[in-house]
Amino acid sequence: MNTPLTRPEILAWLRDERPDRLAELWQAADQTRQQYVGTDVHLRGLVELSNYCVRLCGYCGLRAANRQIERYRMSEDEVMQCARKAVQFGYGTVVLQSGEDPGLTCGWLATLIRRIKKETPLAVTLSLGERDEAELAAWRKAGGDRYLLRFETSNRRLYEAIHPPRNGEISDRLAILRKLRELGYEVGSGTMIGIPGQTYDDLAADLELFAALDLDMIGVGPYLVHPETPLADARNRLTVAGSEQVPATELMTYKVLALARLQCPRANIPATTALATLNIAQGRELGLERGANVVMPNLTPPKYRVHYEIYPAKACIRETSDQCNACLTARITSIGRQVGVGRGDSPNLRKR
Ligand code: SAM
Ligand code: SF4
Repeated sequence: MNTPLTRPEILAWLRDERPDRLAELWQAADQTRQQYVGTDVHLRGLVELSNYCVRLCGYCGLRAANRQIERYRMSEDEVMQCARKAVQFGYGTVVLQSGEDPGLTCGWLATLIRRIKKETPLAVTLSLGERDEAELAAWRKAGGDRYLLRFETSNRRLYEAIHPPRNGEISDRLAILRKLRELGYEVGSGTMIGIPGQTYDDLAADLELFAALDLDMIGVGPYLVHPETPLADARNRLTVAGSEQVPATELMTYKVLALARLQCPRANIPATTALATLNIAQGRELGLERGANVVMPNLTPPKYRVHYEIYPAKACIRETSDQCNACLTARITSIGRQVGVGRGDSPNLRKR
């Protein structure tokens, strides 16, 4: 029986820098991962289907006001080609991710989901931002299995500063997460690590919230500065005492990954691209050895992939899907793990 950590325990780990003590954290996370979700590493094929976005998030390169990127939206047939690649590579899931793009209409997406479900055995994960309840319901009915929506930070003041309201409506991602659960989706959320203005206490509260929300999937990664965004400018940042500011480092990311595993032992947790961006040589492997059990090879055609620039110098931006597949499969076997077969649903569902 695994019980969530207390706030002082989480804070002590987040502040600990001693390699011998941290080795104990990595070991606890790795053992918990083995006990609850096993040796398999599930591959989720990522399709970045549109980089249009109506939002003005202070951290993200896809924000509507960024005129420096070329916008694209994939066609239904292009997405289907990616889905067929996913099947060919033996993946069990396709993840459809995009900016918050009203051009991806409810009906268009529902037709696409139906087609994927009819023509392939894939599970479909959606990560399309804050959409209406009617849309979320229609996509669930069409066959959508899972939805990813990070709450980014549980500090409401910080969240509102970096994720402004749209059309006067305050963004309430926690309410949407509750709705997704009611609709029967497997629910995923997460945070960025080291957002300017994020304190250790904020991050500890995020980790508590993972457990309180009983998440099926958890995505965490370091905040990476994009020069064409407001947060790149120190004048737009919430200031906190230097000793309270969480650093956006590789080490902090491993700590949060490991603690997320201890908080939610049955969740599916990816070693993210943002982590690989900080350490291309070993980030994913170390993530998998410190709590993670999922990786997301990119299926987006390279001609679009270069324009899905959430942050600069993103890992694996020029590779083809064949190269991503071969590279990630080799990395998984190199650390003595195996590629999972089938959809890889969260064992949390069975528990619930
Ligand atoms: N638009 C959808 C949304 O916001 O949920 C999905 C796509 S969005 C690009 C996916 C995630 O990218 C966000 O939840 C956020 O955590 C992450 N992200 C955006 N900008 C980032 C940055 N500068 N550094 C690290 N992660 C970032
Ligand atoms: Fe748009 Fe998502 Fe980027 Fe915010 S994080 S600007 S919603 S793509």
